[in-house]
Amino acid sequence: MRVSDDRYCRDRLRFDLALRLIGHEARTHTIRIWTGLTEDRVRKLYRTYITEHPGERITRRRGKSPQRCGFFLRSPRMQQEAAVLAGLFCMVGIVVRGRRLDPRALTVTQGEMLCLAYETYHALVTAPQISFEHAAFLVLALSRADEIVLHHCCGCGALAIADRYTLRTPVCGVCAAAPHASGGVRGAHGLRIDRPPVPAAARGTPAPASLGGTEAG
Ligand SMILES: [Zn+2]
Repeated sequence: MRVSDDRYCRDRLRFDLALRLIGHEARTHTIRIWTGLTEDRVRKLYRTYITEHPGERITRRRGKSPQRCGFFLRSPRMQQEAAVLAGLFCMVGIVVRGRRLDPRALTVTQGEMLCLAYETYHALVTAPQISFEHAAFLVLALSRADEIVLHHCCGCGALAIADRYTLRTPVCGVCAAAPHASGGVRGAHGLRIDRPPVPAAARGTPAPASLGGTEAG
């Protein structure tokens, strides 16, 4: 393969990734750091995307990308969705224990992993609440591990997200909802439902053995 062919292939991969990111309504800044393309090139690709997808409504988001880790801890539902997404990040290999991602040196392959994890999350979760922008932020926040970290729930072993400095024992949303039930789980109306513990893998969160990016077991 000639040098020019190699460069063409790399550029083609960048363009394909950028179009995929535009489809997820990623901001221009986000597309730039995950593809390495210039702002001008991204703007032209937006026009290309709209031409190639007539009838599809794409919002071009402006302003700053998400910056608050508290978003992922604000409700049990959000914690659970963030844990599912984080588990998928671990499975595709973009979040790995001890490896910090440099936002200035992200590769196209890592961008493709992010898209794959996010698209799988959308396929698994009904009415997903995490935007692509927040998903991209979650990857970098978990890789920094300075505000939020991954834990295994001490009750069932499922993956859970926690404040790095919390003094509480890390538990997943399901176990947290039934703190006093021994062997039983409280239903939506506070009624105790006796049933065996649900395997971690069956909750939509990958089993601990398949994960590589967790903080503490
Ligand atoms: Zn649990």
